[in-house]
Parts: sequence; C-alpha cells; structure tokens
Amino acid sequence: MTDTMLSESLASARERLAQALASAARPAESARLLAVSKTKPADMVRAAWELGQREFGENYVQEALEKQAELADLSGIVWHFIGPLQANKTRAVAEHFDWVHSVEREKIARRLNDQRPEALGPLQVCLQVNVSGEASKSGVAFAELEELAETVLSLPRLRLRGLMAIPAPAEDMARQREPLARLRLALEALRERFPEAPLDTLSMGMSDDLEAAVLEGATLVRLGTAIFGARDTSRR
Ligand SMILES: *Cc1c(COP(=O)(O)O)cnc(C)c1O
Repeated sequence: MTDTMLSESLASARERLAQALASAARPAESARLLAVSKTKPADMVRAAWELGQREFGENYVQEALEKQAELADLSGIVWHFIGPLQANKTRAVAEHFDWVHSVEREKIARRLNDQRPEALGPLQVCLQVNVSGEASKSGVAFAELEELAETVLSLPRLRLRGLMAIPAPAEDMARQREPLARLRLALEALRERFPEAPLDTLSMGMSDDLEAAVLEGATLVRLGTAIFGARDTSRR
C-alpha cells in the first residue's frame, strides 16, 4: 500500500466513524479510532502517525517489540495490546504497552501488575468478555466478570478502563447489535457496582460491525483492514 492509499483509507475510516457517531446522535469525539497494525511494517505505522493517527493495536508481542524499537522516535504514540495473552508474554506487555484489551483471567492480571515498571504509571486494562458463548473460546464469561473486575481494581499498577469483545460474525445489523448491547449493559452494571472506578471504555467494533458498535456505545473501535488493507494471512 502506498502512502497515498493509506492517506485515503485513513481519511475514509475517520469519515465512517464520524458518520456512525452522527447517525447515533453521539458527540463527534466520543469514540476513537484504534489502528490495528498487526502484520504491517513499521513504515506503515510511521506513515499513519504522520497523518495524525496516535493509537495502534498489536496482537503479537515479538512483532510489536520490533516495530516499537524502530518507531521509538515518534512522540505521543500509544500502543494497545489486543491479542491473546499467554503468561510467558506478560512481562513484555507490561513493559512495552500502554493498554491491554485482552485480560480474561486473574493470573494474567496479577502478573501484569507485578511486572509493570513503577516508572511507567499504571497499565490501562480492558477485560475481554466472551459475548458469543460457545462460538468463542476467548474472554471471561459474564457470570465471572464482576469477580475479575474486583481483582483488577485491587491491583495498584493496573487501571481498569472497561470491556472489550470480539463477537462472532453476524450478517445483519440487528444480530450484530445483540452481543454488543450485552457488553454495554455489562459495563453499565460494573459502573454501578464500582462507582469510583474509571470505567469509560467499550472496545468494540471492527471493520464489519463498526456502525452497530457505535450505536451500542463503543468508545474505541479497532480497525485493521479498513485502514491498512488486507493482511497476508499466509505469514501466520
Ligand atoms: C485483527 C483485529 C482487529 C482488526 O480486524 P480487521 O478486520 O482487520 O479490522 C480488531 N480487533 C482485534 C482483537 C483483532 O485481532
């Protein structure tokens, strides 16, 4: 993808988000774009940064560390870890990311807390919720969400910001909205249960369901393909 193409696709992603917010009668800045740069080269991230994009999502720890090293000169860049997180990768994530969206069990949360360097300030955390039941292996079940939230809130190096989900694909808007609405209601319930917690984030909405997610209150939409083009899946 050339820089001109990137400039056009980023502009249309911004326009699409702006339109979705307007259709949902929501304020213009009430959801942000997270540019998912997994499998894409550091140069492409740099080009997006030059176009004003600041928040980037990565799924693979090693790949992300290499890119971060190449991009260490970029100021104001914010790195989000959004992929499955194994216990042996928590240290790298705690040391090199600003956000983690995919916390789904207590052991991982405790390790991230213990390994977060004091100098970096707290790691911003979303809990990944299994909104599609048996159709998904990832994410904490709704029934166990409150307990996990309580644990994360007790960990001083973590700051619990909200919830994340990757729903099973659905054809029409009404079906897309169902699991996203469940996530929104779960966040509302947590806010009532923990009124002091800074629970302001719903990380949901991808290239196929952005409009549905914005209607259900998404504050951080994660777009990969729509910004950077199709990924070469043969590499993974
Ligand atoms: C890859 C990925 C995305 C982006 O997906 P696209 O379909 O390319 O927009 C968003 N969220 C997560 C968790 C991902 O792994």
